[in-house]
Amino acid sequence: MPVGRGKSLLVGAAVQPDGSRTTAYRALEELVCARCARPILPACLFSRRTAPATTISTFGVGWGRVAICVACRPLRLDANADG
Ligand SMILES: [Zn+2]
Repeated sequence: MPVGRGKSLLVGAAVQPDGSRTTAYRALEELVCARCARPILPACLFSRRTAPATTISTFGVGWGRVAICVACRPLRLDANADG
């Protein structure tokens, strides 16, 4: 069992609508989308995005990556990551 930073689980490679690759995560606790402020419910997929420097300075070092829900940024899991 993961201890401590167990709010999300790394799922693997995913493709965004624009064709760029990202990493998909699965929420283990309810998170909040940094873009639309809607909840990301446990077991839902989401992606992460590097926050602007102003946001980083607000939350402190280590909070530079924020959660983005699939409504804002749809994800398709990449089953052929070697392709
Ligand atoms: Zn969102």
